[in-house]
Amino acid sequence: MSRYWSDVVQQLVPYVPGEQPALAHPVKLNTNENPYPPSPRVVEAIARELGGTGNSLRRYPDPLSRRLRETVAAHHGLQPEQVFAGNGSDEVLAHVFHALLKHDKPLRFPDISYSFYPTYARLYGVQCQVIPLAEDFSINVDDYLGDAGGVLFPNPNAPTGHALPLAEIERIVAANPSSVVVIDEAYVDFGAQSAITLVDRYPNLLVVHTTSKSRSLAGMRVGFAFGHATLIEALNRVKDSFNSYPLDRLAQVAAQAAYEDDAYFRTTCARVIASRNRLTQALQALGFEVVPSAANFVFARHPAHDAATLAARLKAQEIFVRHFKLPRIDQHLRITVGSDDECDVFIKALRDLLA
Ligand SMILES: *Cc1c(COP(=O)(O)O)cnc(C)c1O
Repeated sequence: MSRYWSDVVQQLVPYVPGEQPALAHPVKLNTNENPYPPSPRVVEAIARELGGTGNSLRRYPDPLSRRLRETVAAHHGLQPEQVFAGNGSDEVLAHVFHALLKHDKPLRFPDISYSFYPTYARLYGVQCQVIPLAEDFSINVDDYLGDAGGVLFPNPNAPTGHALPLAEIERIVAANPSSVVVIDEAYVDFGAQSAITLVDRYPNLLVVHTTSKSRSLAGMRVGFAFGHATLIEALNRVKDSFNSYPLDRLAQVAAQAAYEDDAYFRTTCARVIASRNRLTQALQALGFEVVPSAANFVFARHPAHDAATLAARLKAQEIFVRHFKLPRIDQHLRITVGSDDECDVFIKALRDLLA
């Protein structure tokens, strides 16, 4: 606290990101990064943009990320006017709160969900109606029908990994014609159905994507929103009142190259899914209850071992998993699906700890 701080800053409760340890070889299963490098085309595109001397870096990047948006729009069967590009989907979500979710009625989102949402709500003064998930961590669709200031949740949900079928998403979108329904699809490529296919039919639907998880580009910070052109225009109005150049030159060409290599994308997603199933079975064999996951992480608890203690003991061995000290989930661990080798190191350490 300082008397120099604004009232807004004094009231903030900042989001705490997962640890990025400064170790040479941590087993890092705590922030849902991809275990595989990005497509080789990404590295080529960055090298091409730098051109040996880095001469192009003298110039500002395209403020509208036009070529990137054209590529991504075509990939999803949309028009470029239906695509917004931002500095990571976290920035996209922040603009969404500011531009589309701040209304007289409260925004609805689940009690167990991406913990950045309450932080943005506080930052932008958005009223919230937090709705409890069912006992099995599923979203009860009936809780989201009818009038609200907006609806927001991840599908698959984080940190549970639970996915709603597309028909259930459509039921929510159709029942909220006077407010924006935002589906945060950070993990959709690992096993859920994307609501992008509904964008042409519902002017109140906004779908948010990131290149951080399924496209191995967390370090480049590129995210998107897909929706009706008027929703995208609202986001551009906020962007151009905040930072005209959210994506640098290297990020724009890197993300574009990632979308141009669909075969690589599909191969690495399939490998992560196969490793997720293997990791789930290994955890179950150790007595863990594992929530069925459609994401690149699993959410698990052991009936006889305290989650925070397990996380701390793993960390002492330079193995990082995520523990949330939050109501209802403080006995769970969220474990990112690593490579099979990383998962094996993790399972072996866990087996020794439980013995
Ligand atoms: C990781 C994550 C994001 C943020 O992704 P960035 O594009 O890296 O900012 C957004 N929403 C959910 C649910 C996530 O898990």
